[in-house]
This record gives sequence, structure tokens and C-alpha cells, in this order.
Amino acid sequence: MKDELDRQRHAQSSGRTLSEFEFIRTLRQQVPVRDQTSLSLGIGDDAAVIRSHPGRDILISTDLLVEDVDFRRTSTTPTLLGHKSLAVSLSDIAAMGARPRWSLVSIGVPEDIWETNFVKDFYSGLLSLASHYDVQLIGGDTSSTPEKVVIDSIILGECGTDLAVTRGGAKPGDQIFVTGYLGGAAAGLRLIERGAHLPSDPSEDLHLIDHVMLRQLRPEPRVGWGIVLGQERLATAMIDISDGLSSDLNHLCLESKVGALLDSSLIPIDKQVADLCGRRALDPLQLALHGGEDFELVFTVSPNNVSRLPRRVDGVSITHIGEIRDATEGIRISEGSRVWELKPGGWRHF
Ligand code: ADP
Ligand code: MG
Repeated sequence: MKDELDRQRHAQSSGRTLSEFEFIRTLRQQVPVRDQTSLSLGIGDDAAVIRSHPGRDILISTDLLVEDVDFRRTSTTPTLLGHKSLAVSLSDIAAMGARPRWSLVSIGVPEDIWETNFVKDFYSGLLSLASHYDVQLIGGDTSSTPEKVVIDSIILGECGTDLAVTRGGAKPGDQIFVTGYLGGAAAGLRLIERGAHLPSDPSEDLHLIDHVMLRQLRPEPRVGWGIVLGQERLATAMIDISDGLSSDLNHLCLESKVGALLDSSLIPIDKQVADLCGRRALDPLQLALHGGEDFELVFTVSPNNVSRLPRRVDGVSITHIGEIRDATEGIRISEGSRVWELKPGGWRHF
């Protein structure tokens, strides 16, 4: 934590451009804390928390998706893009242990795209996911852009007072878990960058390729797990994996002022990724540790609550991957008897 603040001060005083995360930290420091009775959490977590009335908190989060930065229009379909635009927001509400309720989506499209079925298909993908989770689209804005598609997805959720799970509640001794399997979305992105398309050409890898590409293009937010972990007060801290496990665990540890020790043999690597990597000499563990956009949840549980964890929610399992340690130990990963520092290696905009 102190190191991070020192880095920021150094970056500012030396005139170096701030990273995305340094920028967010400085912005956060500039925002005065006011009206703490209704705003219980501002900048810095997966969503902000507003106290609406006794017994209920409202959560709000927004996600920006920019063509050729966050997606390529030629590698996805409008329907999948609509699904993903809502899915990333649902994932942030899940990461807060809350239930998603309302969505506002703004879209800017170039005129030639407007004249196609793009927007209609985009909303068909978005609304089908919304109806699956009983989320209502309650507004948005529509505009034109000179060239690229831009989408802003705002989500509101709710939970009982003080039940929101922040990134900041992990304590040494808490056990670290992750939902589902990791590395699929990153493997999918690599295939897309190499020109793979949906539907894929028939080949022996057809099934594997379709699976990992859909992990990238059609993420499934862990809404059910989020609600269970929040409502049952099972998670002490939580974050969703948007940037990559190493990076997002780093955010959680910074906010909680703790360190962590992961066991590399426990990391749940997507089976299809392991199979694909085996044929292409890529390291599946690296994809699972540093690849972003799996939209799984990483959460910490106090040792006396571990036995209360359900084995599966909505058919999705969880895996124990390590333990929260004192901040002085840093964030490390073991492989057999060797232990090394786990540096945040996921996605960064700047
Ligand atoms: P996530 O990956 O969960 O969507 P981000 O890394 O985008 O989270 O953002 C982390 C925190 O910083 C969030 O609380 C978010 O609201 C806040 N944040 C990010 N960008 C801005 C901005 N331009 N202005 C204000 N807050 C921001
Ligand atoms: Mg998030």
C-alpha cells in the first residue's frame, strides 16, 4: 500500500504519465467525503453503494466498451456484443455480493452501422441476458459517432444494509476461492487476434476453439454466486476477474492491506485451454494467472465459514486457491517447494 502511494507521488512529481490505476487513486483522493449517511462507498470498488432506506442498499457501476479497444466489431456479432455489454456490469454487481436489478445503456454508432440491423441485434442479445437475470432496462442514451461504436453500460443492484462485499475486508488467515475455471477468455482473445472467427472452420479443434472464443465473446457473469456469498455473509472480500487474477487479487490485497499466498497446483485452469495450449506450446498457467475477462469471482472466506460454502451454485463450482497472509509477505505463488512473487500482469489501458 505504502509502496503504491510512493509510486504515485513519484510518478506525479517526475511528470510521468499516470497508469490507469494511479489515475483512479488520485481522483479518489480529490473527491471530498461528504454525506456519509447515504453514500457508504464511493470510487475504488466494483460498484458504489448508496443507502436508500433502512434495510436496503443500492449499488451502481458503469462500464465503457470502445470499439477496437474493448472489442472488435468484425470478431463478434451484435447479439454477442449486447450480451457482453450487460454481462460485464452484472459481474461487477455479483462482485459486490448483490442482486442486479436495473440497467441503463447508452450507445453511440456511426451512421452506416445505424442503417443495418446492428442496434436491433445488439439489444436482442442484451435483453435476453437481462430477462434471464430479471434485470430491467430502464433507460440510456443514443448518439452517433464519426467512426466507432461506443457503449456505456450502467447497472444498479441491491442488497441488505451493510451486506455489500467490498475489496477491503480480507484478513490474514482467510481462505481464497475462485469460481469456475480460468484462462479461457484470454486464450479466446489470442485466437481472435490470430484471425479465428465464429462460426469456426471445421477442424479437429472446432469444439475447443468455439469454447474459448465464447469465453471471450460471451462471458457468463456469476450472478448466483454473488448473491449467495453476499446474502449469507460468506465472503469477507470479493472482486471479479476483469483484468486478470494476478491484477485483480492485487487490487483486493491493496484495499484489504494484506498479502496472499497462492498454490499454483490449485489454480483451476480451463480444461479446453490446457488442451489447446498443449498443441501450441503456450503456458496455460500464465493465461489463467494473467489473462483477463474470465469474469469469475475471487473471494476470501474466514476459516470458520469455509464449511458453510455451497459446492455449486447454478452448476458452477468453486476452487480453493490459497490463503490471505500478512501485508509484509506480499502476494506470492508457490510451485512445489519454490515460492515467487506474483506480479500483477493482466490487462491495463494505460
Ligand atoms: P472494474 O474493473 O471493476 O470495472 P475499474 O478498474 O474500471 O473497475 O474501476 C475501479 C474503480 O475506479 C471503480 O470504483 C470505478 O468506479 C472507479 N473509476 C474508474 N474510472 C473512473 C473515472 N474516470 N472517474 C471516476 N471513477 C472512476
Ligand atoms: Mg469489477
